[in-house]
Amino acid sequence: MNLFGVQLDLFGNAPKEPEKPKVPSSVSMNGLVHFKYNSQLKKSIRCKGGALFGHPEVILPHYMKDPEFAAARELAAEWAEHAIRRKTAKNKATIKDLVNRFWTLVDQVLADRGESAVSSKGRLPPIRPQGKYHNLNDVLAAINSTYFEDKLTCRITWSNRVGGLSFHSVRKDPVTGEEFHLISISKGYDAANCPEYAVAGVVYHECLHIAIPVEIRNGRRVVHGRNFRVRERQYIYYDEWIRWHNQVLPKNIWAMRRGKEL
Ligand SMILES: [Zn+2]
Repeated sequence: MNLFGVQLDLFGNAPKEPEKPKVPSSVSMNGLVHFKYNSQLKKSIRCKGGALFGHPEVILPHYMKDPEFAAARELAAEWAEHAIRRKTAKNKATIKDLVNRFWTLVDQVLADRGESAVSSKGRLPPIRPQGKYHNLNDVLAAINSTYFEDKLTCRITWSNRVGGLSFHSVRKDPVTGEEFHLISISKGYDAANCPEYAVAGVVYHECLHIAIPVEIRNGRRVVHGRNFRVRERQYIYYDEWIRWHNQVLPKNIWAMRRGKEL
């Protein structure tokens, strides 16, 4: 069956990841803050003022030398530039914000590598769109172009809760400090018995929650209002998806909770 007509290739071909440029681990991107590494450090970073023309030097735990920590090192460099300045109330707030974002990002990198976090405060769940059977980035890209003119900005991951439901939340990016929408899809959909139209259906549903925010009517939160239901039915495989969702998904979730492979 041709699922999406002309969109079919969007599901078939995963977009290639751009090649990452090489980043030196000894200096910040702007070349002003130098990084040193210490194997004694684990949960802390230090800075020394005025090493190079008034710019600080940052001492980081040794494991942060890896390229995955490049973005975290940039935050550490920014933190050090502020930390060596006079501690005004405004500067103190900036320092605190940078430190929080730095550790959130470090934890994120560790979680993505499958390692335990240094601290668990406010940390993002690992974002894993590649499943065993379906790649959620590909599904999201097809839905976004078919139903939202490519205008939705969000990230997507398989849910980390075993046997959980699909949901949408707002998270804070530790690098930019900006908020973003995160769609989490139940792993019950990442199954050999799950057709592409069913994954696309649940992704479309969660995308609609971003496009149609919760309304407050007579003091009540209306999550799936009339407009939402009308738009939801515009999905071309709505009936097929709902049937799969009601008949197969509960069985998959039941199996997952008993530790069975889908
Ligand atoms: Zn919903």
